[in-house]
Amino acid sequence: MTARIGILALQGDFAKHLEAFSELHCEALPVKRPQEVMDCQGLVIPGGESTTIGRLCQRFGVDEAIMELYQRGAAIWGTCAGMILLAKEIEGSDQWRLGLMDIAVRRNAFGRQVDSFETDLTVEGIPDGPVRTVFIRAPYVTRVWGDAKGMAAFDDKIVMVQQGNLLATAFHPELTEDRRVQQYFLGMVQQ
Ligand code: GLN
Repeated sequence: MTARIGILALQGDFAKHLEAFSELHCEALPVKRPQEVMDCQGLVIPGGESTTIGRLCQRFGVDEAIMELYQRGAAIWGTCAGMILLAKEIEGSDQWRLGLMDIAVRRNAFGRQVDSFETDLTVEGIPDGPVRTVFIRAPYVTRVWGDAKGMAAFDDKIVMVQQGNLLATAFHPELTEDRRVQQYFLGMVQQ
């Protein structure tokens, strides 16, 4: 069966995720409405502005759809702003979140001097060498607990976490040519 991957298309860089998944063996489509979200086996929450995506999720009832999708055992991957929305704790912020992952995150955590940067990181569970990673006003993870497991770190800061069917990356795999993180996520979807 070809997995259907919904890319949450409320705000942010969903178009790049669509392009990236279109190169792989799956059906990727933009989703906005609750029913569209629920019809997927995997969901990607893209980078963008986490407060805006959160507000739109609530306004369109997508928040409940995502929770239902999660309860059905679908896989969900958040990049950057998406990671923030998956976290249970967001340092110094009471903004709305899905709060599904046992992680605490710090927004815009790398500071002004290094707003955006690229680097090669070794990722646990992804073979064949380091992954090129792109960070854009990225968060990092200050704490993991429960079943959450760090998969990659930059400068001792955790930047990729998996917890069961949930995946979070502080960086943007959709902005490079390497599709190994997408492949990894498809593996989670198929389980
Ligand atoms: N700084 C953004 C936020 O806090 C995230 C940046 C991104 O998604 N590239 O929502």
